[in-house]
Amino acid sequence: MATYVVVGGVAGGATAAARLRRLSEHAKIIVLERGPYVSFANCGLPYAIGGAIRNREALLVSTPEKRETEFNLDVRTRHEAIGIRPSEHEVDMHNLESESIYAIAYDKLLLSPGAKPFAPPVPGIDLPGVLALRTIPDMDRIKEHIQQAKVQEAIVVGGGFIGLEMAENLRHLGLKVATIELLPQVMTALDFEMAAMLHDELVDNGVGLLLNDGLARIEQIGDRLEAITASGRRESGDMVLLALGVRPESDLARDASLALGPRGHIIVDERMRTSSRDIYAVGDAVQTYHRINGKPCAIPLAGPANRQARVAADNMAGRDSAYPGTVGTSIVKVFGRTAACTGANSDMLTRESIPFLSHMVHAHDHVTYYPGATPMTIKLLFSPEGGKLLGAQVVGANGVDRTIGVLATALASEMSVFDLQELELAYAPPYGAAKDPVNIAGFAAGNRLIGDSQVVTWEQLRDNGHDYGVLDVRTEPEWELGHIDGAVHISQEEIRERIAELDPSKTWVSVCKVGRRAYVMERILRHKGLRAATLAGGWNTYTAATRSVTSVEPGMTNSSSDSFEPGHGILRPQKLESPATDIIVELDACGLQCPGPIMAVYQRMQTLEPGAVLQVSATDPGFRRDVAAWCERTGNTLLGIETDDGRIVTRLQKGSPSQAAVSFPAPVANAKTMVVFSGELDRALAAFVSTNGAAAMGQQVTMFFTFWGLNVLRRRDAPPGSQEPDRAHARLDAPEGGRPAQALQAQHGRTRHGHDQGGHAQQAHRLSASAHGQGARAGRASHRLPDVDGYDGHQGRGARRGS
Ligand code: FAD
Repeated sequence: MATYVVVGGVAGGATAAARLRRLSEHAKIIVLERGPYVSFANCGLPYAIGGAIRNREALLVSTPEKRETEFNLDVRTRHEAIGIRPSEHEVDMHNLESESIYAIAYDKLLLSPGAKPFAPPVPGIDLPGVLALRTIPDMDRIKEHIQQAKVQEAIVVGGGFIGLEMAENLRHLGLKVATIELLPQVMTALDFEMAAMLHDELVDNGVGLLLNDGLARIEQIGDRLEAITASGRRESGDMVLLALGVRPESDLARDASLALGPRGHIIVDERMRTSSRDIYAVGDAVQTYHRINGKPCAIPLAGPANRQARVAADNMAGRDSAYPGTVGTSIVKVFGRTAACTGANSDMLTRESIPFLSHMVHAHDHVTYYPGATPMTIKLLFSPEGGKLLGAQVVGANGVDRTIGVLATALASEMSVFDLQELELAYAPPYGAAKDPVNIAGFAAGNRLIGDSQVVTWEQLRDNGHDYGVLDVRTEPEWELGHIDGAVHISQEEIRERIAELDPSKTWVSVCKVGRRAYVMERILRHKGLRAATLAGGWNTYTAATRSVTSVEPGMTNSSSDSFEPGHGILRPQKLESPATDIIVELDACGLQCPGPIMAVYQRMQTLEPGAVLQVSATDPGFRRDVAAWCERTGNTLLGIETDDGRIVTRLQKGSPSQAAVSFPAPVANAKTMVVFSGELDRALAAFVSTNGAAAMGQQVTMFFTFWGLNVLRRRDAPPGSQEPDRAHARLDAPEGGRPAQALQAQHGRTRHGHDQGGHAQQAHRLSASAHGQGARAGRASHRLPDVDGYDGHQGRGARRGS
């Protein structure tokens, strides 16, 4: 009769022990667990702190007694394995209750000791009130501290999964929460612009967010704690929660001379066998292989731990089973949004010099005519040759789990973006769309690959704005609410009449709110012989990403700075006040995307009397900011905003006409504004010529000079003309991983030639535009992550579970 000893009785250990029993009824199976519980739901701990899980017992998926009865296991809690002697096939045990030490013999040994929270070696780390979360006793300690110390303000250090989950759950308890993150973004498994949506969500839900600044020390000031950052910023609170990543519990393995990886993880082969023949290891303590680059990686997640446990048990019991490696599929809830990813992110592919392209699409979890549709953003990373899927990221309110599940399956099956187009996924109005978001992502990525569309990313536009002309195709109200400096505003309806205004020597980057209308415009421009591209993710992505980038210098993100409480940096959601009026009109704008909600508000407000209150529900996450800006500009009053799992509810009170600071497109006949963006003399002169022409026709004309335009007037010497070299088009379709895509370059060349010929005749009438205004260039701080492995806990880009 074989004796199997399992060290660690939670995710990996408990699964392996149960599997071993299913494979062998006669084996002796001993499970050693240092803590008081086995098989508990550590993933549920943040929610038990926040109150979403009310019953503490629900966290105990199983008990030692149940395990013994159901599986005939010998479960020994409060027993710590303190040594392994591989040559003697023995484990030394410490009974933590009786304090006795003894040895047990094994035929096969499985190690699943997990990983412990990383505590950085900074002064004050041991102060009372500085806590971390891994086990049920940790959870009890945190809850007790919150009650006994009457905690009102908490500082969460670390913006990985556990840090984010804790920030949300502590907010649910009504605490003020500030999160400190060393890197310029939370959730390093996501690309920056995807994580930026979480920055917004955190701030919108009252979490102060301090990015790009690490914890330097903690001080006790009276009965309060102060976290002091590397930049010298001080955040004070009643509790500090460390969520800085985990370190493998591999001392036992090290002492037994088992081979360890560079970061201390136990090295295993695909059968989960360690360097010692009869010892296997699984879970957070081991390093396996990443399926995208085939290199060693450690991904501390429950799914891999469970599947590895099954493979190890099979091999221990004499079966032949192999673990294929991991792709790090993971998901996290951050208030009303969910973020998920699978496979490689841009950072990993760039580091590994794997050529790739990426594409972002915005879709809805189900058709918008069925109530409750919420938007989601999908980013695909794929090979420039053949479109093989390399990674995927999804951020949205609902349906993210289903979408990432499909994409993870596609990735593991080595599908291409063209295969995504063909996937036949279930659809009925409450659940999806005839063109599923995954299909749409496949279509868009495929379009890019076959050259129907080219994209410029927010970073390319930010860093090389002078290479492009920016064409904003959104509606007038959307444009009014904010736009990229230097952009030309021409809607889709007008483009055929106004195409001559676009300088054919430029590559025109078409911008709408999320990218869909911009793609249509890109196609029109290309058919008209212009070089065109689409801004990936549109205005939404551009603003979310550049807003966060500009705040990476030490300091709180201030995407809604006026709503921040001075000195604390925390945005509090405003509660809906009861308006002093009986007239409340309801408007359901849920499911509407892009300009939809704000247009609906605009139209409905026009029908109301001053003082009336409009209550609007919407699901487009951008609406929260749009409506605030809209009220500010139109003299209406925002009474309050509440969010509830992806639904935004606002109340607006209509102001009197005299209060309106700026109104929406006023129907002034023949009124025109000439915007001079260019610092080039010929273009500025062309603007004067056009202005004079319009004035001569009896039109009311205003000239508006941007920073660059003003430079033309200010200069003593002659400004340059517009014959600038075209630097843009060679860069446009270079794979983001590095290598240029030859075929696409060739196509660019042809297009350019074509439109150049037609372009010169129109030059004199052209109002020049360039996207290198201040806004487009703001915040050049690079978001590229330093290759860290350590203190911040992100364990390199392979490790997903950042805390
Ligand atoms: P564990 O489940 O941690 O089990 C290891 C056990 O070994 C521990 O109980 C420890 O006491 C015991 N042990 C260690 N050394 C010894 C010794 N010498 N002798 C005896 N016993 C020993 N993953 C997800 O995929 N999704 C999530 O949402 C998620 N949420 C999480 C939330 C929290 C708060 C935490 C802490 C983790 C979360 N994880 C999540 C990660 C997931 O829980 C781990 O990846 C998984 O539990 C790893 O399994 P494991 O068996 O390797 O280690």
